[in-house]
Amino acid sequence: MAVYSVKELFYTLQGEGAHSGRAAVFCRFTGCNLWSGREQDRSSAICTFCDTDFIGTNGNGGGKFTSAEELAEAAALLWPGGGQPYIVCTGGEPLLQLDAKLIDAFHQVGFTVAVETNGTIAAPADIDWLCVSPKIGSDLIQTSGNELKLVYPQEGGDPANFEGLAFDHFFLQPMDSDTGEENTDAAVVYCRDNPKWRLSLQTHKILDIP
Ligand code: SF4
Repeated sequence: MAVYSVKELFYTLQGEGAHSGRAAVFCRFTGCNLWSGREQDRSSAICTFCDTDFIGTNGNGGGKFTSAEELAEAAALLWPGGGQPYIVCTGGEPLLQLDAKLIDAFHQVGFTVAVETNGTIAAPADIDWLCVSPKIGSDLIQTSGNELKLVYPQEGGDPANFEGLAFDHFFLQPMDSDTGEENTDAAVVYCRDNPKWRLSLQTHKILDIP
């Protein structure tokens, strides 16, 4: 029996990228393959700028779900009705756990299924919206999708190296760090000079959307 470990399961607005502003259930899976999630491991991790707590199952709505149906039904209960139900599978790295069975279960309860991945694992078929956010220093396996969202700047992460990939949308998202304002200014300049790229702001942080 499959067991899905979920840090948190909650209803909010998607804050960033092409679907910014859209109501969504967020399913944040536990664990990532590019960082343990422990601060003492951050400096030696492949991905060092993570802003997310993905350890454990103790978040809002989190837990261990013993079947795809159980998790899908818990998610569906959070949708208020109306519109097109939309679920964003994120993490951590969601593709460590999200499988065809769970995608099917989400579809069965009416969700459009979006995934936000670091791109190091090939995505299963039948995902409705695939957002890949490459992390420099890792192997990018998933080189196609709907949306490429590059956190900017990353050392060695020239956006030009990604713009030939098979994505419909290309976003630069300023890195949230102690140089956040400079990062935002740099991303604005880059998008202005390179119109293939659009600016993605983390509006849920700016507006403190719960
Ligand atoms: S890949 Fe994503 S979830 Fe994993 S450590 Fe980096 S930012 Fe965090």
